[in-house]
Amino acid sequence: MTDKVVGILGVCGGQLGRMLAASASLLNVKVVILDVGTSAPAKQVLAPISTDLAHIDGSFADPEKIRELAGKVDVLTVEIEHVDVKTLEDVQGIIRNTPLAIHPSPFTIHTIQDKFRQKEHLLSQGSPVSHFLPVDSTEESVRAVAVQIGLPLMLKSRTLAYDGRGNFALRELSQIPEAISALGDRPLYAEKWVSFVKEIAVMVVRTIDGQVESYPAVETVHKDNICHLVFAPLRSRDATLAQRARAVAETAVKTFTGAGVFGVEMFLMDNGDLYINEIAPRPHNSGHYTIEACETSQYENHLRAILNLPLGSTALKVPSTVMLNLIGYSSSVEEITATTRVALTVPGASTHLYGKSECRKGRKMGHITVVADSDAQLRARLRPLLQSLPGSSADEVDRYAQ
Ligand code: ATP
Ligand code: MG
Ligand code: MG
Repeated sequence: MTDKVVGILGVCGGQLGRMLAASASLLNVKVVILDVGTSAPAKQVLAPISTDLAHIDGSFADPEKIRELAGKVDVLTVEIEHVDVKTLEDVQGIIRNTPLAIHPSPFTIHTIQDKFRQKEHLLSQGSPVSHFLPVDSTEESVRAVAVQIGLPLMLKSRTLAYDGRGNFALRELSQIPEAISALGDRPLYAEKWVSFVKEIAVMVVRTIDGQVESYPAVETVHKDNICHLVFAPLRSRDATLAQRARAVAETAVKTFTGAGVFGVEMFLMDNGDLYINEIAPRPHNSGHYTIEACETSQYENHLRAILNLPLGSTALKVPSTVMLNLIGYSSSVEEITATTRVALTVPGASTHLYGKSECRKGRKMGHITVVADSDAQLRARLRPLLQSLPGSSADEVDRYAQ
């Protein structure tokens, strides 16, 4: 397919790198993975190509290790945006057969990895974002912002956030000390509370020339700030919604540079308005469903884009699909196993386990994608899976699987 060697900066046991590596193996794309340990999830699915191209044991945060990886590959990509951009810029000059390409570009990663900088960028480019303000990590500053923006508000870490772990929902002024002790050691900003009716996401793939193709719009459902379910295609009485969401996502992704897949998270308001919540410059949880449900998965299209190969179709190939995240409930993997056992009995269900060494409460351990011929069939298939989740209420099951 190509002689180019792809380097993946792994996230320390991440699933996105694992699914990217699995996709690369089908295309015979040579990959070198930088991740901690010899049995990181991505390394489990892709043996080293040769001794010269052995995987690297180290952290994405270690400049020396990034340099080592850069010396072995033609194209560098990331499964996490929280990387040291200065090091990426430095290694851009390292030459193997051809100059090293970094996708997405260091500019894109720099802009996106700081959520406040990302929001300022989107605002300046005319993309719709809800009201946000800078804030210092002090009680006085948060109080001043609360007066300006109103309560509730979402206090957010500018950097290193994932799965809602940098967010604090501030409902009353009396919670400010608690918020500061939870997030105060990080640079912060504040967002006006968004009373959305739905959360929507669109995966967009961007070529080296800056052309963009979007995947179908999907509905994402979060539980405790973590992505819980993803339904595709998006259902709405508003016939323009899915197209509008795709247009908002495509326009936003065009403002960045470098190739690859981007995940655009959006809020849908009661009046039909859309706001961008955040953008991830990489394959994304809301795009896992594309493996079974689209003509070309987000992972394969990410590889095609960064390798300058023709993109594959982003179209759905099934009438209805849902992705259920398997989130650790405790330090035991027992609860996950119970759900995967049920999945084995559900037609149209595909189980993905990520090979993580330890289970922890709130940790993404795997996911299940279900495909079906209709929404009704999909919900019937989803029902036993939701019922098998620890702590799931009858109400919740009915809400998503009626
Ligand atoms: P991830 O990267 O895993 O998607 P994150 O840590 O970057 O998560 P966000 O996407 O900022 O966190 O927020 C997580 C969830 O919190 C959102 O999907 C949404 O449900 C809720 N949320 C975020 N911002 C707001 C807001 N301003 N108002 C209301 N709810 C919000
Ligand atoms: Mg995020
Ligand atoms: Mg998010």
